[in-house]
Amino acid sequence: MGKTLRELKEIPITRLTGVTPRLEERLGMLGIKNVLDLIEHYPRRYLDRTKKSDIADLRVGEEATVYAEVRKMTSRRTRQGRALVETIVYDGTSYLYVTFFNQPWRAQQLTTGTEAAFFGKLEHYRGKHQMTNPAVDVLGRIGEKTGVIVPIYPQSGKADVSTWQLQKFVAEALRRARDFDDPVPAEVRARLGLADRTRAYNGIHEPEVEADHFRAAHRLKFDEFLRMQLGLVARKRAFEERRVGLAHRLDGPLVPAFHARLPFALTGDQQQAIAEIGADLAAPRPMHRLLQGDVGSGKTVVALTALLTGVQGGYQGALMAPTEVLAEQHHLSISGFLDGLTVSSEATLMGERPVRVELLTNRTGAAGRRKLSAALAAGEVDIVVGTHALIYDSVAFPALGVAVIDEQHRFGVEQRALLRAKGPGGAGGGDGSAGPEPDVLVMTATPIPRTAAMLIYGDLDKSELREMPPGRTPITTEVIPPSPLERAGAYRRLREQVAAGRQAYVVCPLVEGSEKVEAKAATEEAERLEAEELTGLKVGLLHGQMAPADKEATMARFREGLIDVLVATTVIEVGVDVPNATVMVVEDADRFGLSQLHQLRGRVGRGGGESWCFLFADPQTPEAEARLQAMADSTDGFLLAERDLEIRGAGEVFGERQAGFTDLKLGRIPRDEPVVIEARRVAEEILDADPGLAAHRQLADEVEDLLGDDVEFLFKS
Ligand code: ADP
Ligand code: MG
Repeated sequence: MGKTLRELKEIPITRLTGVTPRLEERLGMLGIKNVLDLIEHYPRRYLDRTKKSDIADLRVGEEATVYAEVRKMTSRRTRQGRALVETIVYDGTSYLYVTFFNQPWRAQQLTTGTEAAFFGKLEHYRGKHQMTNPAVDVLGRIGEKTGVIVPIYPQSGKADVSTWQLQKFVAEALRRARDFDDPVPAEVRARLGLADRTRAYNGIHEPEVEADHFRAAHRLKFDEFLRMQLGLVARKRAFEERRVGLAHRLDGPLVPAFHARLPFALTGDQQQAIAEIGADLAAPRPMHRLLQGDVGSGKTVVALTALLTGVQGGYQGALMAPTEVLAEQHHLSISGFLDGLTVSSEATLMGERPVRVELLTNRTGAAGRRKLSAALAAGEVDIVVGTHALIYDSVAFPALGVAVIDEQHRFGVEQRALLRAKGPGGAGGGDGSAGPEPDVLVMTATPIPRTAAMLIYGDLDKSELREMPPGRTPITTEVIPPSPLERAGAYRRLREQVAAGRQAYVVCPLVEGSEKVEAKAATEEAERLEAEELTGLKVGLLHGQMAPADKEATMARFREGLIDVLVATTVIEVGVDVPNATVMVVEDADRFGLSQLHQLRGRVGRGGGESWCFLFADPQTPEAEARLQAMADSTDGFLLAERDLEIRGAGEVFGERQAGFTDLKLGRIPRDEPVVIEARRVAEEILDADPGLAAHRQLADEVEDLLGDDVEFLFKS
């Protein structure tokens, strides 16, 4: 029997030869506490010793790696006070000067006698051959090594453990572990061409040829994704099994009436999503579905169809939005869509009454809440649109049938659960045992790349609106540097558009600190613009600190065309729908994230004509520059989401707390999408045959070690 990962996790690092208390502490700084941590501390890259160059053969201007020993080292400060470390290195063929500026710590690293690989460009300077600030990998006594491919480990100056010390400890750990027990069935490994686990751990640390570490990495990545997918799929199935939902009827009169009154035809994607949601609603299990679609893809109509499916069977619906402005906006547009629609009602003479939608936010007064509660209890209200107040408020929904949550990324899983518990089934305390639960549809306007969605929402079913409704107009996006001339050009375009009867937005910078500070800055900016660049135009102001009545009045005036330019904070990020607006200026655009910029830009190009988005920016980092460039290059939200992932990495995009992400040591998305898909398939297969993983104890242990106690119930029951 080979070793399991859990066994290795139980062996403290001090059991290895030469791990003194001092080294134990330093390894701890690298996150290495046990033997499993050590062998999962993977090489950052590899040096192929057959690809090294001899110093004697180098030509000026050429980039190369040389392996050499430090023969002489001096350290001093230049007259300008810059740290200067000068070394002379020798590789058996010739000498080379290697010089470091502003890296004083090289003096400790490159003491005489140290062997290292230097990667850099050969220069000719004052009659000498030299490299300046090359990349350095200290190798230790490479002469003793047999392999031609040398692993280079991630190091940190602070922890001060060299790559050759790590090599030595890993080698001992692998030698002592000998064989690894492989929890992935041999048949699966053969089918997918996966290396076995023993070869994988050996191949990643001690490859003999390049192909070894690629193959090893592929297998180890597969394991990382398999654990996550087993956890997610098991969670989803447990959820589905335990919960009792409502079987809604699809044949009522309300939905067809709603669709018949729409001034447009549904897109193919909308029809498809409506069909998928319909099947969920009709089934006796609670729906748990994600509706994903770019800004303007028409999610509202789909969501409203779901809500009305509940309403026509006598249930109530709730729509939860992340901000007041958005809730108000949804309330308004839904009221518009519902105008003229009726539901049957025994209480009225005609046997029917208008469909009734109400708004509930933190600003709803006590009296308003009492009235709403009474109306809900009496079954007189069909749909309530609101913010968090919907879940945290005492207002109860005696007949909640369908709940829609907009902008999922701002709500947590707990809030989803709380909203679910608002329905009749949740009355007992929200554990889902008391009775049927409402169906939940989660909407997001931040498209999530397929793989990422699979990782994060692996427990949700998914519908996508990829196709845009007709009538979107093209948007030209320009990044405007801080030059008065170029900025004037942008404002000139804005004024031209206003003169042609169009409208515009100016989005104020994000201000560190409170919403209050931001509101103040926006107010001042509006005044300044009115006095300067926008003089003579009708300028309006919108920010999060305004009273709701004032906000609504401003939005109404903007919609009616009484305001030419709306100066606003990011409160307009989502939901604001004024097709006549064709220009947007975003100030300090480099402070915004990519998805936020994309959301903002979605306020223009909504059918009022050719549109422009000017991103005023002075990017200080390559990342900010890449973000702005991506915006200028594309208006496709799905593509931008992929770019965002590439630029920032999954951990940044989805937050540290997303279980599993920080545990990905080799896997990266979107790069490894095919591996994720493979792992997903295998996870489903394994759980189909063995739902409790009773015959796959080792996998169950690994998933538990990854995701923590909260999954214990999945496999221990
Ligand atoms: P999202 O919420 O996905 O950003 P909305 O639901 O607000 O998008 O829809 C954007 C605009 O497109 C709205 O004005 C809506 O009425 C309109 N719309 C929705 N579906 C269609 C369609 N099939 N054809 C034409 N216009 C549509
Ligand atoms: Mg919307």
